[in-house]
Amino acid sequence: MTPDFTPLKALGVIIEHNAPLWKWTTFQLGGPCPYFFSCSTPEQLEATVKFLVAQKILFILIGGGSNLVISDEGINCAVVRYVSLQPLISHTPNDITVSGSTSLDKLALYAAEHGLEGLNYTSGIPGTVGGAVVGNAGAFGKQVGDVLRSVTLLSSAGIKHEATAQELGFTYRNSRLKETGDIVVSAVFSVRPADRVILLKERDELLKIRWEKHPDLKKYPCAGSFFRNIEPTSKAQRRQATGWFLEQAGGKNLSVGGARIFEEHANIIVKGQDCRASDVYELSQKMAALAKKAFDLDLVREVRFVGKLPGVKESEKNIIW
Ligand SMILES: Cc1cc2nc3c(=O)[nH]c(=O)nc-3n(C[C@H](O)[C@H](O)[C@H](O)COP(=O)(O)OP(=O)(O)OC[C@H]3O[C@@H](n4cnc5c(N)ncnc54)[C@H](O)[C@@H]3O)c2cc1C
Repeated sequence: MTPDFTPLKALGVIIEHNAPLWKWTTFQLGGPCPYFFSCSTPEQLEATVKFLVAQKILFILIGGGSNLVISDEGINCAVVRYVSLQPLISHTPNDITVSGSTSLDKLALYAAEHGLEGLNYTSGIPGTVGGAVVGNAGAFGKQVGDVLRSVTLLSSAGIKHEATAQELGFTYRNSRLKETGDIVVSAVFSVRPADRVILLKERDELLKIRWEKHPDLKKYPCAGSFFRNIEPTSKAQRRQATGWFLEQAGGKNLSVGGARIFEEHANIIVKGQDCRASDVYELSQKMAALAKKAFDLDLVREVRFVGKLPGVKESEKNIIW
């Protein structure tokens, strides 16, 4: 029996049945889910999670969908999308409070426009603040965890609690939230007053560098770098670009079905014609095997798969893996 969604609809939550998920990821891949809940405020999110818990409906949460590859057959659980078109942000001279649903780039722009230093390096990274906290997103050697002060979390049982940045156990492109599954409702970042004009100029420069290096998502749907960069070794003492190793090993020529490697960056898989999520998975396996054979490297995936893929055991354990 279909649950009565009237209380959620009254709060402005948009609900779709049999919703195609490809629409909600930057890779534009993914089959349907039975129920899709679009929440744009913390209040809508909290009410939706509590409703799903009370109805015993299994769900996953997504943000901007910029780090995901969703199964071609879709997923057999509800999906909650936590994204707001208008940024939900406030500030003092030393901190910014922002909803997890706000675009990370809009947060960076807000900080620069208000003369607040500390978040400029996140300019141009796709996705939401929530997704960025969970994956400790970063660029130019800095990561979100470096400037995060605290978060308000919602457990998958619908219980709200606060946590400090230290409690989230940030490491490179990782946080404890990937294990706990807690949802980032909102976040507080530490910032410092600085010259607005200098910050905006720096932002323009950073965006220019990104546009030169990263694929235009309208032309090349993708999820950014597929594998994490290589952790510092005793020889190099700094993180090394996985794309460099893959390129040296001839990885730019790899493809499977409609999935191929971006010409400018050997660590990015892009969606070509008739590409399926299973093609992306198989191509990622080929890339990992190539790096192992050529350099004895064990690549660690940054992009997360969602749902079942043909012949893959991992997806039986978790829906997002
Ligand atoms: C062109 C391109 C360039 C990119 N460049 C970079 C880069 O420079 N640096 C970088 O780090 N990444 C980069 N990425 C990857 C991606 O943008 C980041 O990982 C981003 O932070 C993901 O956020 P999202 O909202 O899209 O999360 P999603 O892809 O929707 O979800 C990713 C994970 O986060 C979880 N999640 C999402 N929102 C929340 C929330 N509110 N609470 C709890 N869990 C949540 C989901 O459950 C999922 O497990 C790039 C991607 C693209 C397509």
